[in-house]
Amino acid sequence: MTFEPTRAAGLARLNEFTPRAAKQYGSQRNFDLGSTQQSAVSKLSPWIRHRLVTEQEVLARILGAHPPAEAISFVQEVFWRGYFKGWLEQHPSVWDSYLTGLNMAQESLGNDYADAISGRSGIACFDHWCTELIQTGYLHNHARMWFASIWIFTLRLPWELGADFFLTHLIDGDPASNTLSWRWVGGLHTKDKTYLASASNIARFTNGRFEPLGQLAETADALIEPFDHPLVPLPPAQHKTVDDALLLITQEDCTPQTFIAGRPLGVLNIVSPRNAGLAADFTQHGVSQASDTLVISDDWTTAIIDAAQHAKTNHVVTAYAPVGPVATALTLAKATLSKKGIELHQTRRPYDNLTWTHATAGFFKLRKKIPQILRDLDLG
Ligand SMILES: Cc1cc2nc3c(=O)[nH]c(=O)nc-3n(C[C@H](O)[C@H](O)[C@H](O)COP(=O)(O)OP(=O)(O)OC[C@H]3O[C@@H](n4cnc5c(N)ncnc54)[C@H](O)[C@@H]3O)c2cc1C
Repeated sequence: MTFEPTRAAGLARLNEFTPRAAKQYGSQRNFDLGSTQQSAVSKLSPWIRHRLVTEQEVLARILGAHPPAEAISFVQEVFWRGYFKGWLEQHPSVWDSYLTGLNMAQESLGNDYADAISGRSGIACFDHWCTELIQTGYLHNHARMWFASIWIFTLRLPWELGADFFLTHLIDGDPASNTLSWRWVGGLHTKDKTYLASASNIARFTNGRFEPLGQLAETADALIEPFDHPLVPLPPAQHKTVDDALLLITQEDCTPQTFIAGRPLGVLNIVSPRNAGLAADFTQHGVSQASDTLVISDDWTTAIIDAAQHAKTNHVVTAYAPVGPVATALTLAKATLSKKGIELHQTRRPYDNLTWTHATAGFFKLRKKIPQILRDLDLG
């Protein structure tokens, strides 16, 4: 199974999946039949994650083909991504504390960690998912849950190392969905509610491919965090056309031209350097597809200043970068840009504005608003 990093390939995947998005998805989506079998899930996440295809487009296509009541299960899953993004955006200290925990854990890596990330844990299903992740850049949602649960409660490894392993290899690797899902499994997102993988559940939902009897932890005590993460209000949404500006394209949104109006004076496609691999390849090609030029650099400030000067403009417009490495790079650049008289504008998609507002507590709060959000997007 390959993930081609183009919008055309994402739209083709959406077309192919659409007939299966209703009853079949609802009843079969929890089965992980392995990477060589046709799955009930869409495998659209790499394109949606990098906004080569957007949630709004996916919802429009699916709701155009099925009555809402029949596609409800799929529609709700699509909203989970916006929920996690909006929640992390309003609790940014979670990302900082993840990075701090990761740095600390990386200072004392042991053989148990080396065995886990090279598929030598001795638990056949876990080792299989480890290899599948590295070789394909994708894991079924249920496999991600089982993997994270075994990592935390059976292997007793720091969750931050597991989340980092996922972010390195997942083609859909996403700071919000990944960090908050790992925290959810460990009992840090929904306080004290953990996810415990069991041999019988794995056997049932892998169609008997695996049954790790007697190998998994039988209890899952919630991880403890000695502080709360305060809610920080969303910054106001900005609206800016690119007519007199440089358009900055990052991995957070590879198709900003689909919602930011105007013709830019120049375009800068930029990614930070990463180790070679499927995820790095997808990101680089996804970001650069609209043009042949891609800047691969850690020094975004210099690259943006050079590109803005080349385009003879003091305005840089980009799609809003939610909490994560891109947002950090833009925040770092902003002060220096400002000293040079260059203004950075981050424009949010209407879908994000409508969704994130309700992502302040549990998913249920957002779920209740889905019909209204769909109406506001003219999809109701
Ligand atoms: C420990 C763990 C780590 C995860 N890390 C990531 C990650 O880094 N990036 C990522 O995109 N997803 C992550 N997920 C969420 C989920 O597993 C994937 O989004 C999903 O498996 C993608 O496959 P799909 O496109 O076939 O999903 P489908 O079932 O076909 O769902 C359609 C779309 O809905 C969204 N979606 C579905 N389920 C979820 C979910 N649980 N959370 C958020 N969005 C969802 C995705 O955009 C997905 O493409 C993680 C889940 C777990 C348990």
